[in-house]
Amino acid sequence: MKTLLPTSTAGSLPKPSWLAEPETLWSPWKLQGEALIDGKQDALRVSLHEQQHAGIDIVSDGEQTRQHFVTTFIEHLDGVDFEKRKTVKIRDRYDASVPTVVGHVSRQKPVFVDDAKFLRQQTKQPIKWALPGPMTMIDTLYDDHYKSREKLAWEFAKILNQEAKELEAAGVDIIQFDEPAFNVFFDDVNDWGIACLERATEGLNCQTAVHICYGYGIKANTDWKKTLGPEWRQYEAVFPKLQKSNIDIISLECHNSHVPMELLELIRGKKVMVGAIDVATDKIETAEEVAHTLRKALEFVDADKLYPCTNCGMAPLSRQVASAKLEALKAGTEIIRRELLA
Ligand SMILES: [Zn+2]
Repeated sequence: MKTLLPTSTAGSLPKPSWLAEPETLWSPWKLQGEALIDGKQDALRVSLHEQQHAGIDIVSDGEQTRQHFVTTFIEHLDGVDFEKRKTVKIRDRYDASVPTVVGHVSRQKPVFVDDAKFLRQQTKQPIKWALPGPMTMIDTLYDDHYKSREKLAWEFAKILNQEAKELEAAGVDIIQFDEPAFNVFFDDVNDWGIACLERATEGLNCQTAVHICYGYGIKANTDWKKTLGPEWRQYEAVFPKLQKSNIDIISLECHNSHVPMELLELIRGKKVMVGAIDVATDKIETAEEVAHTLRKALEFVDADKLYPCTNCGMAPLSRQVASAKLEALKAGTEIIRRELLA
């Protein structure tokens, strides 16, 4: 990629109110059947246009065709019973009613490949596609079959690899795995989480990314953040092993977070998607605030490896706020581009 500091988003963007209830996670669809299929495609077009209008360099589908970044993928797999629900604690943080793994998990047909082909037809810009990571997937389920988090994660890694290979063939440039669970289960990440992630990327020639954040700006997450103290050093536990992994890009929450920026030194050599937009507030960043975060990151990330990004997905925000934040990301990036070229 020749663009200096190419901008992108972590993944999800708000959906139009005619497709799903705005500012709501797991929002039910407002359309059905053929109308829903058409509606999702139209929303994808709009989302792409908004990214292009804001000057985003690496574009995505804005996750317009999925209800949720984890559950929509799982819904398409065999071996999981969505009627049989159990309440579990997600990421050790909040209770949620989740489906049950009742048998061998498998993928009978592609999940997002047609959507990716559709996006590819709409633009020549580089495109990034997000998939849930294996560890985050198992954390959103009750396992009544494998009875082993590691075994189930490994099965999901194999399934994700099948999907990823088809996404690559559809023309996706960067495949990203969302692993917020990497910020919670440090021992498991080091024991098998990163190995599972590498299994999911096996044989891919496109760029691969892992997104590790402190979650959407929902109450359970903002309450949890208040318990983390003045310095958030969670990344420190997993960075050394990630640095040695074959994942190309690491996507992080850096803006308004209490993550000490010097932790980025631990992944020196990797490309870093630096979160410079806070998704947990409606307040729009100024260009200078974005630039300030990027400038700090540049002390630990080489300029040719820095990708300005959002802290996390923006699905729960209003469209107006999300669009303004994309423009702020672009404007802040422009400041740093000028400084680097001066
Ligand atoms: Zn995130």
